[in-house]
This record gives sequence, C-alpha cells and structure tokens, in this order.
Amino acid sequence: MEHLRQFVSGCRLCVLREQAGTVVFGEGVANSRIVFCGEGPGADEDRLGRPFVGRAGKLLDQMLEAMGFDRRQNAYILNVVKCRPPDNRTPTVDERMTCYPHLQAQLALIRPQILVLLGASAVKTFVGEQAQVGKLRGVWQLLDGGVWAMPTYHPAALLRNPAWKAAAWEDLKQVIDKYRELVDPEHDAPAHPR
Ligand code: SF4
Repeated sequence: MEHLRQFVSGCRLCVLREQAGTVVFGEGVANSRIVFCGEGPGADEDRLGRPFVGRAGKLLDQMLEAMGFDRRQNAYILNVVKCRPPDNRTPTVDERMTCYPHLQAQLALIRPQILVLLGASAVKTFVGEQAQVGKLRGVWQLLDGGVWAMPTYHPAALLRNPAWKAAAWEDLKQVIDKYRELVDPEHDAPAHPR
C-alpha cells in the first residue's frame, strides 16, 4: 500500500492535479473488510492531505462511531478522485475514469467485502453513469468480484439536508447487518445493537 501511495502521489494524469495542493490518497486499516468511498478532497482535505477531515469528515466519523467503525481500527476511507476539484465542483466523468485505476489498485490491495458508496460520484463510478443515489440508496449492489456495495448519501449532502439523515441511518444499519453476516457476527455497533 505504501508503494502505491508513493506512486499515486506523483500522478499528474488529469487536470485536477494542476490546482490541487496535494494528492489525497486515503487512509485507514489496509486489510479492512469495509471501505467507505466518497467523491474527492475538499479544502481541508487538500490542506492536510487526509480524506474526510472537514465538517463532512467529522460527520462521517460520527456515523462510523455509531456503526462501530473507526478509520484507525477497522475501516478504510478513500475518494473516487484523489485531487481536489477547483471550487469543490463535481469531478467530471473523465476525471473519475482517469483516477479509477488508482481506486481499483487500492481496492485490490484492501480486498473489502463491503463498500459504502457515499454520494453520486461514488455511486456512478461503481454502479453506472445513469445511477441516482436518491433511487438506489438503501439497495444492495453486488459488484464484480463479489463485493457488496451500499449506495447512500454523502455526509456533505446530509449537512445540507439534515432531513435525509434518518434515511441514511436506515442504509447504514443495513451495512452493519451485512458486516455481521459476512465478517463478524459479534460486531458491536453502539447505535444498532445485536
Ligand atoms: S485526480 Fe487522480 S488521476 Fe487526476 S491527477 Fe489526481 S491522482 Fe491523478
């Protein structure tokens, strides 16, 4: 993983690198059975070189804690593009596809059983360009390689639309149940007891 991180940190394959301060590779436990995938770095992430460290990141950490996960113990967090899009715009399909081999390489090393797709960019990347979070959220997608993917809202969207939090929690409860089914029947989730 460290070799891959070094390789990706030198990437200049798309225009996003021109204005980004750094490449935000991802972080977590490299053999996690669960991976959370967002869209791309924001300003705080670009400044610190770490994924999900701004307001949305704090909410994600709270969501993880409620689910019994922690990026330092049993989860990995990454984005579909590793460089910050200017003004936090949505990355284009071309940019996502250019960065996709890095994402594939990360997942090939981690080999998760569950992938949580946070927001439209992640959902479109893994499920298809026509996929819509609002329609697919809460519905398991079985990806190539036997990975179970759960589409749900991005934490930044939840900050903008707090009324969506209840629906997102229903999705995440399904994720906890799947983790207990596939990985650890004893998994302890404070907000969703066995
Ligand atoms: S976004 Fe991805 S493909 Fe584009 S320069 Fe950064 S690491 Fe390379």
